[in-house]
Amino acid sequence: YQAKLAGKNCARYYDNVMNQAVERHVRLETELRGAWDRGELSMVYQPVFRVSDNAVVGAEALLRWHHPELGEVPPTVFIDVAEKTGLIEMIGPKVMVAACRDAARWPSVDGGAPPFVSVNVSARELRSGDLPRSVAKSLDYSGLDPGRLLVELTETAMIGDEAHAGRLLQQLRATGVRVWLDDFGTGFSGLSHLRRVPVDGVKIDRSFVADILHDADDLALTTAIIAMARSLGITVIAEGVENRAQYELLRERGCDLAQGFSLAYPMSADEFIELCKRTRTDELPV
Ligand code: C2E
Ligand code: MG
Ligand code: MG
Ligand code: MG
Repeated sequence: YQAKLAGKNCARYYDNVMNQAVERHVRLETELRGAWDRGELSMVYQPVFRVSDNAVVGAEALLRWHHPELGEVPPTVFIDVAEKTGLIEMIGPKVMVAACRDAARWPSVDGGAPPFVSVNVSARELRSGDLPRSVAKSLDYSGLDPGRLLVELTETAMIGDEAHAGRLLQQLRATGVRVWLDDFGTGFSGLSHLRRVPVDGVKIDRSFVADILHDADDLALTTAIIAMARSLGITVIAEGVENRAQYELLRERGCDLAQGFSLAYPMSADEFIELCKRTRTDELPV
């Protein structure tokens, strides 16, 4: 309507922009459909550290898409396409199998327990109801101890049928798999989810962590989330830790685990194995 008011040229301009966006989306969808079979999708692992003694305790599995012409397509872009088109229901289970298979090969760290792997699961995957079966199959194939698998869900993944989500997650937890709430603090009703959906941990969104040194409100919120998690008896993880000072401050406030570019970038499964071998620690928690 606004475009019409602004005249014909303008309308054409908007049409073009729209068409380009639609075309790009369609192109990505077409390309993504065969990407796994062409070997363009791969997993990287970002180490997770225990703040109290800097031990490596696990890693988050992150999907990468290298397209021969488009180059590296960011996960924020292609996961969104995969969600909207339903392709995620095909890709998600493959990610779960790959992550469990990789993690099954990880060595114990300094004589302690081997690290956990946490896998991101999107809203649509949760809603499809196939998650417990896909997880069980992946554990079965890989022989991975369920206690070493974690599932990360965002708050928005619960929106809609919270009771259904709660039942699925409870089913998972009964098998020993743990559940974390990802990007915690960015949703509208994080606290109310915690009442109805059983979780083992919360990951403080990196938008909070980013400014804890300079923004008193962000520090207050981060500190409050840590305190809340502790009194609920669940694990609290900070993501996006980009410098030493943030890490020290999080330690001071009692944060359990941390992840971020200042600690380690996402790496291949083999590089992660090397990191585990180099690390010393007593006992693995979470
Ligand atoms: P997320 O689950 O919140 O993952 C954390 C993201 O933050 C990752 O981006 C990671 O590389 C990035 N990150 C880690 N440390 C830092 C830091 O210190 N600073 C900054 N600026 N960023 C940091 P990535 O790999 O691009 O993934 C983006 C999102 O895509 C993920 O956010 C997740 O929601 C989604 N995603 C990635 N892989 C998968 C997957 O296999 N399945 C599903 N469903 N979603 C995935
Ligand atoms: Mg995550
Ligand atoms: Mg996150
Ligand atoms: Mg995030």
